[in-house]
Amino acid sequence: MSVTDNIVDLKATLPENCTLVAVSKTKPSEAIQEVYNSGHRDFGENKVQELVEKAELLPKDIRWHMIGHLQRNKVKYIAPFVHLIHGIDSLKLLKEVNKQAEKNNRVIDCLLQIHIAKETTKFGLDKEDVNDLLKSDELIVLKNVKIVGLMGMATNTKDEDQVIHEFNELKKIFEELRPLSGTHDLEMTHLSMGMSSDYRLAIEAGSNMIRVGSKIFGERNYA
Ligand SMILES: *Cc1c(COP(=O)(O)O)cnc(C)c1O
Repeated sequence: MSVTDNIVDLKATLPENCTLVAVSKTKPSEAIQEVYNSGHRDFGENKVQELVEKAELLPKDIRWHMIGHLQRNKVKYIAPFVHLIHGIDSLKLLKEVNKQAEKNNRVIDCLLQIHIAKETTKFGLDKEDVNDLLKSDELIVLKNVKIVGLMGMATNTKDEDQVIHEFNELKKIFEELRPLSGTHDLEMTHLSMGMSSDYRLAIEAGSNMIRVGSKIFGERNYA
C-alpha cells in the first residue's frame, strides 16, 4: 500500500465534519508531496525546525499544524505561516504567539491543550487552569490570537475503556466551554483528539479533528 492508498482509504471512513491532520513528523518531504498530490492539504509536525524546513521545500498552500510541545523562544520561526497551533498550555505561551503574530500582521488560531491522560509526562492544562486562563483579563487584549478549540491526547494504553473515558472527559470540557464562544476572542469549534491507535474511539466521543501519522506514513524509525 502506498501512502496515497492509505490516506484515501482512511478519508473514506471519516465523517464529513472531521478534519484529518496527516502527521508527517520524521517522514521525508517526498512522502508529504505524494500525499499532497492526492489533494490533501493539512499536515502536522511536532518539531519547529523540521516544520520550518519542510514548509520551505513544499507547496505554499499546505496548512501546517504545529502539534507538539512549543517552546516560547521558537514561536517566531513558525509565526509567519503556521495554520493552527494545537499545543497551547500556558498564558505565557499564548502571549508570545500573540506578539509574534502581531509582528507578522496575522491572527493565529490556537487550541488549548488539555491534560486528560494518566501519564504525567504529557503536557497540557488542567480543567481549572483552562477556566483561569479563559477568565483572565490578559486574554482580552491578545488581539492576534484566537482560541478555536481544544486538543488532548489519551493515555497510551490498550485499555479502551480508559481511552474512551478520557476522550469523553475532554468532550465534556469542550461542551462546557462552548457557550463562551463569541467572547474573549474565543470560538469553540475544533476538538482535536485521536491518533492512529485511537481515532475511531475519539470520533465516537465527538472529535472533529484527528491527528494521524503512522497509519498513513507507516511506522516511524527514530534510530
Ligand atoms: C505523533 C503524534 C500524533 C500521530 O501519532 P500516530 O500514532 O503516528 O498517529 C498525533 N498527535 C501528536 C501530538 C503527535 O505527536
